[in-house]
Amino acid sequence: MNILIDIATLNDVASTFYLILLLLLLVFWRQNPDIESIIWWCGFPLFRLVNSVIGSDSVTYEFEFIVYIGNYSILLSDTLLMIGCLKFTNKNIPWKIIGTYLGIFLVVCIYQHSLNIGLQNRTKALVIFDLIPIIASIIALSRLTNVEYVVEKIYTISWLVFGIFIFIFWILIDFDFGNPAYGSYVITSLALAYVSHIMIALGLIILTIAERRNKLLADIEVNKALENNLEEILEEAKAANEEKNQFLANMSHELRTPLNTIIGYAESLRLGFYGELNKKQKEYVENITSGGELLLKLIMDLLNLSDVEEGKVDIVVEEVNITRLFEKTLPLLKEIVGKESNRLKIINSIRDGQESTSATIDLIRTKQILINFMSNAVKYSERETPISIELKDLDDQYYRISVEDKGRGISENQKMNIFKPFNRAGIDNSQVEGIGVGLSIAKSLIEEMQGRINFESTEGEGSIFWIDIPKSKQRRLPIG
Ligand code: ADP
Repeated sequence: MNILIDIATLNDVASTFYLILLLLLLVFWRQNPDIESIIWWCGFPLFRLVNSVIGSDSVTYEFEFIVYIGNYSILLSDTLLMIGCLKFTNKNIPWKIIGTYLGIFLVVCIYQHSLNIGLQNRTKALVIFDLIPIIASIIALSRLTNVEYVVEKIYTISWLVFGIFIFIFWILIDFDFGNPAYGSYVITSLALAYVSHIMIALGLIILTIAERRNKLLADIEVNKALENNLEEILEEAKAANEEKNQFLANMSHELRTPLNTIIGYAESLRLGFYGELNKKQKEYVENITSGGELLLKLIMDLLNLSDVEEGKVDIVVEEVNITRLFEKTLPLLKEIVGKESNRLKIINSIRDGQESTSATIDLIRTKQILINFMSNAVKYSERETPISIELKDLDDQYYRISVEDKGRGISENQKMNIFKPFNRAGIDNSQVEGIGVGLSIAKSLIEEMQGRINFESTEGEGSIFWIDIPKSKQRRLPIG
């Protein structure tokens, strides 16, 4: 069988392949910009394409300068291939040597052009120069020790070596391409050279894929290690939290007993059990009592928080009449407001005798939350500014009780901290007493009761805190 193919056709076919491979490598580079070698490897098919488009081996341009551009492109193509391989294997790039070597070849090309050198000698010079980056690429790739790359590495190196064999064939025939004795072998060798370039470009693509896979596997390993680390840290944090709760509980118990004794004795003194006190003594004893009571409240808050965190608080959810709960809690709340009770506005928006006002809630804990709201409203607002408490029917599912004040309000950047334990929303150094646990306890309690808690606040204008209390389910049962 006699296959007739000329150099121009070969060039056209090769150009198409180079273009496709160049586009593929560019796509890979776009998707994997962290694999730096790809962009250098793009130069391999790109300059091969330039050469095949110019058709430097075509006799048409035999002595024109453009054939040197083709030759130079071939050298550039293999040099960029080499740079990519060095990058891929994390080797240092000898930029100066590369620059000098490209410069020398440029001088050779100009010299050859000036002497009108023929195809035979031109190719000889090109092959000699071109062998260097090809061999350097083979050496670089052969240093890839990672077993993950074995197949890809052997594949690419084999095609690079195959290219060298074609060079050897050309050396053996002394680059005498015009000799009719070698006619069909020359064109076959050229075709095979093109095949080797295409296969090398494919090799570069599969090396990139292998690199990506490796990086992914390494990432997975790192993530696993992080996950294990996180689990350990979480366990430690849990243990530390338990220790803290235990410590708080023990300390609170230990402090409460002597404190109660102090308050008890101070109270007995104040009531005159051990004789009449003069004015100064009375004042001091009252100071001892109020200071002791404040301390006791803080300790109770701490104890309460550790109980809530440990899930030790018994929530007894029962059906209660929400209006009754509201009315019953009001005296306590009024007491917190104290002498200036006229600043307190009470709004009960649920009509008396409304068909059903039953909610499912723990009575004591709800009162505790409302007491916290009310004492905060008093603590964080100026004397005589209005405070209102409102009960309303929110929707099908909830009643809402809210406490509103016209006090200092909460700044935007502190709002997310309000329900965090021990967080005083930026007023840690203020004179207002507190340890920042009331609202976090309130949140845990109401959520335990399937209710909701939230607030709105404007700095300098005031705040409104509310709880949404779940309505009794029975309410929605059909009658009859
Ligand atoms: P405490 O009052 O003991 O600090 P809380 O948990 O009850 O603890 O409140 C947390 C923080 O939220 C308070 O320190 C305060 O900065 C802010 N805060 C709570 N209620 C109000 C309110 N009505 N007005 C302004 N700030 C408030």
